[in-house]
Amino acid sequence: MSINTEFDLQHIWHPYTSSINPLPCYPVVRAHGVRLELESGQQLIDGMSSWWACIHGYNVPELNEAAQTQLNKMAHVMFGGITHQPAVDLCQALVELTPPSLQKVFISDSGSVAVEVALKMALQYWHSLDQPRAKFLTVRNGYHGDTFGAMGVTDPKNSMHELYQDFLPEHYFAPAPQTRFGEPWDEAEMDEIKALLAKHHQEMAAIIIEPIVQGAGGMRIYHPHYLTTLRQLADQYGLLLIADEIATGFGRTGKLFACEHANIEPDILCVGKALTGGYMSLAATLTTNKVADTVCSGKAGVFMHGPTFMANPLACAVAHASLQLLVENNWQGNVERIEQQLQRELMPLLNTHAVKDVRVLGAIGVVETHQAYDVATLQAIFVELGVWIRPFGKLIYIMPPFVISPAQLSQLTHAIASALEQVSG
Ligand code: PMP
Repeated sequence: MSINTEFDLQHIWHPYTSSINPLPCYPVVRAHGVRLELESGQQLIDGMSSWWACIHGYNVPELNEAAQTQLNKMAHVMFGGITHQPAVDLCQALVELTPPSLQKVFISDSGSVAVEVALKMALQYWHSLDQPRAKFLTVRNGYHGDTFGAMGVTDPKNSMHELYQDFLPEHYFAPAPQTRFGEPWDEAEMDEIKALLAKHHQEMAAIIIEPIVQGAGGMRIYHPHYLTTLRQLADQYGLLLIADEIATGFGRTGKLFACEHANIEPDILCVGKALTGGYMSLAATLTTNKVADTVCSGKAGVFMHGPTFMANPLACAVAHASLQLLVENNWQGNVERIEQQLQRELMPLLNTHAVKDVRVLGAIGVVETHQAYDVATLQAIFVELGVWIRPFGKLIYIMPPFVISPAQLSQLTHAIASALEQVSG
């Protein structure tokens, strides 16, 4: 039986699409390694890792086994008053892999919820100190998710969250980080954020930022000194620093966590996406003993959050297996190899008239064009060329599974060059 794409078109909403004029959707029947298989039998090399998540590729024997073994024991059990081995194993691995000061783990359902949890931790922290604070400081071009708290700290212009502005709390937005990764640092770019802090720090609970790579807000890759200085400023004003590593975590930028580029430790860290190797939705918010204990020393006496599917055993078991695989599979060697190849094969595109900028860091390659091309047209060209790349505005970007071979990666970079040639004439 074939996939009823007509029903899909009539009834199913896809991410950021119109119900009146939906973009075409490609039916995928299975995925293996770095290949997605369409219903037609065509195989596509995956350049997206399903939005940063499937770092080991698809249908991974070790992850399948972890899921199957856990499924035979229990798929789910409530986390209130109960614990289980998959949660303990996963949290132990997270505590070991993340910066040493992060000792407490709160597991939740998705990246956006992990951000909500981080914001609530910061608010409750100040509440416990009897100095309630309601504002956050963040930067333009940031993106932290689609739920209301997360939207409140996401750049309203860039994300269309502007639509909900009347409903959203107003926070402080500093200019986006300007100095690019690898270019000479200019301390003057901190002037505005310093001024905002000097004036409003007493209203602020925390600073929230995506370390080094601003993802959905423009795939911008910035200088580590920005983050180092931000850490110093947070300390100077006694504010908490929240690092949203939902996209950057688990090796994607060439470090296990992007904060390591700046040698800093956040007070609160959000991870998600690649946490389960992209098998299912799971996220975590980690914090220090100091923050956790302060949160719980207040009037409530507890941290006020507890999702129904908190620490779902199936997801925890797969996440734990994924973290083990990350270590066993030499992620660092693979990411370095991918980075070098992306540099070699994407940088020459700077010489073509359609391309404005090329940026590469770790296993992330971004080609920014002068003008936005029609997504459906570009997508069709990519599929024809045997690759899965989903452009976004003026950005054609790839973040392939770490296990991609050099030949497969070349297919992706060549497809970008070829598609651009076709659409830009
Ligand atoms: N933070 C960042 C940096 C993200 O890239 C995303 C997802 N694009 C989120 C938060 C939200 O995660 P989710 O889609 O799992 O809710």
